[in-house]
Amino acid sequence: MDADQPLLEIRDLKTHFHIRQGTVRAVDGVSLSVFPGQTLAIVGESGCGKSITAQSILRILPRAGRIEHGHIHLQLSGGDPSRGEIVDLVGLNPKGGAMREIRGGEIGMIFQEPMSTFSPVYTIGHQIAEAARLHRTTDDIEPRELVLDMLAHVGFAHPDRTWSQYPHELSGGMRQRAMIAMALIGRPRILIADEPTTALDVTTEAQILRLMKRLQAEFGMAIIFITHDLGVVARMADQVAVMYLGNIVEQGDVDTVFHAPRHPYLKALLRSVPRLDPAENIGLEPISGMVPDPFSRPAGCPFHPRCPEFMPDTCDTAVPQLLPAVAEPGRTRAACHLYT
Ligand code: SF4
Repeated sequence: MDADQPLLEIRDLKTHFHIRQGTVRAVDGVSLSVFPGQTLAIVGESGCGKSITAQSILRILPRAGRIEHGHIHLQLSGGDPSRGEIVDLVGLNPKGGAMREIRGGEIGMIFQEPMSTFSPVYTIGHQIAEAARLHRTTDDIEPRELVLDMLAHVGFAHPDRTWSQYPHELSGGMRQRAMIAMALIGRPRILIADEPTTALDVTTEAQILRLMKRLQAEFGMAIIFITHDLGVVARMADQVAVMYLGNIVEQGDVDTVFHAPRHPYLKALLRSVPRLDPAENIGLEPISGMVPDPFSRPAGCPFHPRCPEFMPDTCDTAVPQLLPAVAEPGRTRAACHLYT
């Protein structure tokens, strides 16, 4: 596997929702690359389009959502990108066999609420074994053995007992581990994790994040981590894309982006994070204003009604493009007129 070749490449993705009140441009021209073994975090407030980006990749959009434009190129496992063994997920039928094989086989997924993944009427073992049958058909090993092995991998001390338990019999943290086992049973090369620890207490969250790091090193998979928590991003990610109102406003490697943020939205997000270090205790600053109504996006820069660095006649007229930062070429890009 070539570490320089992206496993997944999203180009100018536009996913819109057509509902009675009008059109919501939930994702409006997003481009991202995911490399083998790396973690890309997509971060932003609720409604910024980060989960819709993930749902577009997996082709599990709600009925009103439609991919209007763009490409989602996935390098197939064992495929040689130089020979064009790459599939555009946008061209596949969301309900077709190819897409079903990719979901769970090439790309695993975990969500905030495991109960939305598991059926309450079947045991954990039965449900993960079904996923194993679907995605590990070339293995000679019995699905039960694969499942017990995976349950042990994700930290169940008694996989045999867990096999016969129902989802409601597990604690929140244990359910999350079982969902990770289900997501990884097909040995995907990319794991999409959509706010997987948001509903957990801090101790359990730390355990699940450590587990994900360990499994990533063990299986060599890439992770797309969707979160609103900048602390989780700093801990987990190599690359970060900050989204606001359907667009990426800043993108780059985590160290550069967090130590020298460029976009006023990211600067404001970082100022709003509580700090434990008294030397840094300079008081929390909430971001002024509200996320705009998605049916009436502001003209020009979508952040301009809330931006402390707003420039009249520029920011409210022209849409800023995501461009490389001059001082850090290749390491960070920002969509802001301050840098153009
Ligand atoms: Fe603020 Fe203008 Fe930059 Fe938008 S383009 S973030 S309004 S300075």
